[in-house]
Amino acid sequence: MAINKIKVGILGATGMVGQRFVQLLDGHPWFEVTELAASERSMNKTYVQAVENRWKLPGDVPEYARKLVVKECNPNLDCQLVFSALDADVAGPIEEAFAAKGYAVSSNARNHRMEPDVPLLIPEVNSEHLALIPVQRKNRKWPGYIVTDPNCSTIGMVLALKPLMQFGISKVIVTTMQALSGAGYPGVASLDILDNVIPFIGNEEPKMESEPLKLLGTLENGRVKMADMVISAQCNRVNVNDGHTECVSVKFNRKVELSDIVAALEGFNPLKGLQLPTAPDRPIIVRSEPNRPQPKMDRDLEKGMAVTVGRIRPCPVLDWKFVVLSHNTIRGAAGAAILNAELMKMNGYLQ
Ligand code: NAP
Repeated sequence: MAINKIKVGILGATGMVGQRFVQLLDGHPWFEVTELAASERSMNKTYVQAVENRWKLPGDVPEYARKLVVKECNPNLDCQLVFSALDADVAGPIEEAFAAKGYAVSSNARNHRMEPDVPLLIPEVNSEHLALIPVQRKNRKWPGYIVTDPNCSTIGMVLALKPLMQFGISKVIVTTMQALSGAGYPGVASLDILDNVIPFIGNEEPKMESEPLKLLGTLENGRVKMADMVISAQCNRVNVNDGHTECVSVKFNRKVELSDIVAALEGFNPLKGLQLPTAPDRPIIVRSEPNRPQPKMDRDLEKGMAVTVGRIRPCPVLDWKFVVLSHNTIRGAAGAAILNAELMKMNGYLQ
């Protein structure tokens, strides 16, 4: 193992998001995966045995992970940082147990996102919210900490809204078309989704209506003051493998021209120069073709870490509307948590 790399573990390593972590952390310059953990269904098997018949990514299981033995999600793993891709039904207490034992936890699960002393983080959007870590440690009297990333559909929309906040946003209406990989594996039954659209994803709309207010809020005296806007979300599951597409309409507090919106989106790159390994060179890509973005064509841009915005046009009900696309298991999950951890390291929260 390279001497300077930080040892990391993956909780829920066998699931859809866990597999993405295993793939994206292969050869990471700062992090070395030393531990993989999941449920008792996978425990004590080598990783390659545990994911036999359910490895869902192109290519083989990376060499480094094949022979690692999957362990129980107990806070006795040989690592400093754990990425959590745990099912939300179990993630809450397991992540707390790790933080209480001194681990840094970078989580994808929803359980702790809205707790006042837990950073809900997108590095390009609210890096200053990392200052909640010392507040959390003091409140909970634990040596470790939990940092969360947002719901997969929230991330794409909020990345597009952040550069537009300078114009004052008061209302947002969003309708999503969300990919099947967002439901985990085996997820939605094929007979339910072939030739079909399902206009309901459990808990998704409340998350899309609340998480952006924290992400776009300001940190004041160790608390997040929620952004002053209202969001209405309708979430649908569609027959697409990867990539969430979202139709967004926005009401601004002042008159905004098309050129202002395009310039704000294209000029947005707050991580430029920081050299975080997972940060995309272009976090937002604006397309002018009338038929883009499309999941198949655009989800893998910038290794899946870019958000593509297109079809920017006037909205007769609010002010402007556009379409946003982002890769749900990379920018919306594993890639997001890895980028969060890179920011944590850069800010001195990992040794
Ligand atoms: P998934 O495919 O169902 O995987 C769930 C993982 O949790 C598996 O590794 C499973 O291990 C493990 N697990 C289940 N019960 C457990 C238990 N009692 N103890 C320990 N481990 C247990 O789900 P997913 O889609 O990867 O999602 C994982 C998390 O990320 C969820 O909280 C989800 O909401 C969130 N998320 C998902 C996406 C996405 O696009 N898919 C995006 C953002 C956030 P076994 O294989 O051993 O059962």
